[in-house]
Amino acid sequence: MAFHLNKSTEAFNEAKQYIPGGVNSPVRSFRGVGGTPPFIARAAGSRLYDIDSNQYIDYVGSWGPMILGHAHPAVVEALVQAVSNGTSYGAPTLLETTLAKLVQQAVPSMELIRMVNSGTEATMSVLRLARAYTKRSKIIKFIGCYHGHHDSLLVKAGSGAATLGVPDSPGVSAAVAGGTISVNYNDLAGLNEVFTQYGEEIAAVIIEPVAGNMGMVLPQEGYLAAVREITQRYGSLLIFDEVMTGFRVAYSGAQSVFGIKPDLTCLGKIIGGGLPVGAYGGRQDIMELISPAGPVYQAGTLSGNPLAMTAGITTLTLLSQTPGLYEKLAEKTKTLCAGIRAQGEKYGFTLQYHQLGAMFGMFFTDQPVYDYESAKQSDIGAFNTFFHEMLKQGVYMAPSQFEAGFMSAAHSEEDIAATIAASGYAFAKVAEY
Ligand code: PMP
Repeated sequence: MAFHLNKSTEAFNEAKQYIPGGVNSPVRSFRGVGGTPPFIARAAGSRLYDIDSNQYIDYVGSWGPMILGHAHPAVVEALVQAVSNGTSYGAPTLLETTLAKLVQQAVPSMELIRMVNSGTEATMSVLRLARAYTKRSKIIKFIGCYHGHHDSLLVKAGSGAATLGVPDSPGVSAAVAGGTISVNYNDLAGLNEVFTQYGEEIAAVIIEPVAGNMGMVLPQEGYLAAVREITQRYGSLLIFDEVMTGFRVAYSGAQSVFGIKPDLTCLGKIIGGGLPVGAYGGRQDIMELISPAGPVYQAGTLSGNPLAMTAGITTLTLLSQTPGLYEKLAEKTKTLCAGIRAQGEKYGFTLQYHQLGAMFGMFFTDQPVYDYESAKQSDIGAFNTFFHEMLKQGVYMAPSQFEAGFMSAAHSEEDIAATIAASGYAFAKVAEY
C-alpha cells in the first residue's frame, strides 16, 4: 500500500485536544516542514516504526542520544535489571559515581560533575554558577546557538525557536534578556567589540563548539582558540555546551577534537543513553561553589536517577570499549554525505555539507554557511520538498533545515546505500519543484 499517515493524522488531531500543538517539544510537530508527524510506536537499531506501519531509517536518533541505535540489547537488559531494584530513591547510589567517573575520564576538563535531568537544566545551572564565581552578571551567547529554553538563553535562539521564527519568546522578561549579549557565530571582530565595551562585566561566554541548532555549522580555523584566549584575558569563564557534541563528534567531545580546555562544560543526550539526563562540570575551584559543597543552590528530585544512570553507564561503556567505533561512525557519516552530494549534483544541486564524527548537516544553498545569517540563505522550500520525499521513501531526517543529522552504530551499509538512493529520488522531486 502507498505511504500514508492516516492513523498518525488522527492521533495528531486527538493530541492537539490535550497537548499544546499536539507535542511536548515544538520541532516534533513538523510545523516548519508542514504535514503530519508520524506517531512512533517503537524503534529498534537504525529504525523507527510508526502507528501506520511505516518504517524509517532514522537520522534523528531522538535528537542525538541514540548513538548506539534504538533499543540496544545491552542497554535494554541493563535497564530491565535496574528497574526491578526500584526506580528512584532520592538518596545517593554507586551508579552516580560510576557515571561521573566515566564522564570525567572521557572529558578531563570536567574535574567535578553534577548530574541533572536535561540539557536545559545543565546550561541554566552553569550560568548561575558562572555568575556566582565571577561576581559578574552578563553572559555572551551566539546567534543561532541553542542551549535550552530557560530565560537567559532564550535570546536569539536557534533550533525550534529559529524554525518557528520566535527568536525572543514572549514571557522572557526584558531584564533577564538584557543580561545576555548575542554575537554572530565565527565572528571574532564582533566578539572583540563586545569585550572591549563590556569586558569587565562578562561572567561567561557560552558556545556550541560545533553548532548544531542552526543546522550544523563548524567553527572556523582558530576560532575556538581565539574565544578561549579572549575569555581568559578578561577573566570571563568559557562554557562549552557539548549537550549535542559530547560523545558524538568524538568520545571526548569537541573539546578533544579542537584541543581547547573550557572552564565549564554542559552535557546531555548521549550520557543518558536515551533517558533524561544532563550534566555540567568543570574546574574544581568553580564547581566547589555548588551546593552542598558551596553556596550556589541547585538540586533535583530525580537527578542521578538510577535508570538514567544505568542507561548512561551502559552506553558510555560500550562506546569506550568497542574498538574503532568512532572511526566507523565517522566513515559512515562521510559516505552518507558524499553519496547524497553526488546524487544532488546529478540533478544540478550544489549544497553545503558539513560533517564531524557522527554528526552531519546539509544546507540548500551554494554559498558557504558559517553563521546563522548564512544558514538562513538556504532554500527552505527546497529543503521541505526534499524532507517529505525522503520521509515517503522511509528515511527520517530532522524535520527542519536548522537541525543536524546523527549517525548511529546501528546504521548498516545497506541503510546508507538505501538513504543515498532515496536522496536521488528526492532531489529529482526538488528539481521539479
Ligand atoms: N544545548 C544544546 C547544544 C542542545 O542541542 C540542546 C537540545 N537540543 C540543549 C542544550 C537543551 O537540551 P534539552 O533539550 O535536553 O533540555
